[in-house]
Amino acid sequence: MANHSLTKKQKKGLRRIISAGVIYAVLMILDHTGALPIVFENRLASLLLYLIPYLIVGFTVLRGAFYGIKNHQMLDESFLMTIASIGAFAVGQTSEAVAVMLFYQVGEWFQDYAVTRSRRSIKDLLDIAPEYANVERPDGSVETVDPDEVRVGDILIIKPGEKIPVDGIITEGSGMIDTAALTGESVPRSARPGSEIISGCINGEGLLKMRASKKYDDSTVSRILELVENASEKKSHTENFITRFAHYYTPIVVLAAVVVALVPPIFTGHWLSWIYRACTFLVISCPCALVLSVPLAFFGGIGAASKVGILVKGSNYLELMSNLGIVVSDKTGTLTRGNFRVSRVECADGVSRAELLENAALAEGMSTHPIAVSIRNALRAEGIGAELNTRLVTGTDNRAGLGLAATVGGSEILVGNERLMRENRIDFREVHDDAATIVYTAKDGKYLGAILIRDEVKPEARGAIAAMKKEGAGSFVMLTGDRKEVGDAVGRELGADRVYSGLLPQDKVSRVEDMLNELKDSDKKLAFIGDGINDAPVLTRADVGIAMGSMGSDAAIEAADVVIMDDNLNKIPMTMKISKKTIGISKENIIFALTVKALILVLGALGLAGMWAAVFADVGVAMLCILNSMRLLVYRPAPPAAAAAAPKVQAAS
Ligand code: ADP
Ligand code: MG
Repeated sequence: MANHSLTKKQKKGLRRIISAGVIYAVLMILDHTGALPIVFENRLASLLLYLIPYLIVGFTVLRGAFYGIKNHQMLDESFLMTIASIGAFAVGQTSEAVAVMLFYQVGEWFQDYAVTRSRRSIKDLLDIAPEYANVERPDGSVETVDPDEVRVGDILIIKPGEKIPVDGIITEGSGMIDTAALTGESVPRSARPGSEIISGCINGEGLLKMRASKKYDDSTVSRILELVENASEKKSHTENFITRFAHYYTPIVVLAAVVVALVPPIFTGHWLSWIYRACTFLVISCPCALVLSVPLAFFGGIGAASKVGILVKGSNYLELMSNLGIVVSDKTGTLTRGNFRVSRVECADGVSRAELLENAALAEGMSTHPIAVSIRNALRAEGIGAELNTRLVTGTDNRAGLGLAATVGGSEILVGNERLMRENRIDFREVHDDAATIVYTAKDGKYLGAILIRDEVKPEARGAIAAMKKEGAGSFVMLTGDRKEVGDAVGRELGADRVYSGLLPQDKVSRVEDMLNELKDSDKKLAFIGDGINDAPVLTRADVGIAMGSMGSDAAIEAADVVIMDDNLNKIPMTMKISKKTIGISKENIIFALTVKALILVLGALGLAGMWAAVFADVGVAMLCILNSMRLLVYRPAPPAAAAAAPKVQAAS
């Protein structure tokens, strides 16, 4: 219900409009029926009477114009309306003067209403804000509190159909979690004790108990809401263009109005009628239709994106998405699932399989890299690792792009690629395999063996890349820290135009910088897609950084400009479509508003359109533009169709 209620400001505005409107109507009737000739035939008395509704409804506008003059920013809409109405009073058009203010305020009121409505509907459609949390107290009683009041470590009870109020870990119960509001993904995910769950999702079935791991303010849901609310602060070029345009346009129109008021009467002598035309001019020229509807379009576009699980952190980024020259992507976890299976284990002489695997698993124990997670999972599946004593791991040193060094029970274990082995002068036996990522392992300088793991390409990747190109992304480049053989194989399978392999995180930055240089002479932009692991610097460096949100990976959400909540690559071409649609609607508004205004300006100058026509043209155009922008609120791009599989390339060797 609260959704349709008016804000305080809107209620106040409405009261002013209604009371001024009623007084105005009464005055008009009395005036035109000649009921009170003594009053209305007296110029001064009639002026004073009409000033009552004028001041009631126009007080805020006059005040705005006054402050504008004081701050030397006088050429805004309030200023235009103020001189137009004062001019109308001056030439004796008292009732028109009031009408200008009255209808201008009606228009403003509706614009304000439309903006609040669309803001609210975006928030509603996101529909992720939890209203309460059920906290289980140590004595077993359950208390319903505000999500704000949940403390880290609290045990929460979530009944079927309830929203998860804060991020946490399931302690009891299992079921399906509906993540649609966050990810736009309709297939629910299963959750069981130990699974992390993200606030804003809905518990589909069964009773869950969870331990809160974050406060509400740090939880995914409140960070997302904050992002969406602040997104419109970063202005797009189109919006800045409108601001700049208004900056030049308004003084030009004012100047033209002065010319219309002063020049023709020198020849014709009809001062009053030309001043009246000049005032009409000012009313028509009010740029509010543009000033409001274009930002509203971008706001709607960001809303349309968030409904399909794409967070865009600013209008500028949304705009850039339809103008990409090069799309660069990381491989592991971005184009591939980052879910490795162990395909082969090669032990060094005298080392058992179990010894190799256990040492590798211990070393990877503290890392969040997809390789580490996968090795731990794979070994657990083999029955190794369940009884590993992770307390032995006393230190982990991440070597980004290489692997890591861990101190385990006093010895140093190295896990990583051949570069890591070479850097540490390990005497290792190189393994050859076209498609596997190879994790070499050494302990205290002694080589233990290699674990070959394979990743899978995301099923939608090829289709998504094709769709990005169809939407205009010039070329697709893959960067990876992995070996050339693996990089080339994946690149070929996905239809990448270029592949650079064996890169350290800083190499990725310099490759991206080279490509930014390639684009320097065109107006095209570069996007980088990553998973936030090891590639935050590149995400920041690119014109648009797109991160796989993996449901709340902090690094990614912070560093990126666009976050794909469900890691589905198809969302990228969908964002490009939303971007195009948004820009299209903004352009329609700009062209439509300017054409109508130009037309009425000419008619006004010729004396064919009076103040009334001007007021309706202004308010009417603004409303049509706003309605046009609001179309974005219901826009939902179709996901791209799956692409045909890559042609099987026969290996020559
Ligand atoms: P990508 O560029 O494909 O996302 P990264 O830059 O994260 O990959 O890592 C590059 C390479 O470094 C990997 O292919 C792997 O050989 C090695 N590596 C990185 N982290 C680890 C780890 N935790 N364990 C083993 N090897 C790793
Ligand atoms: Mg990576």
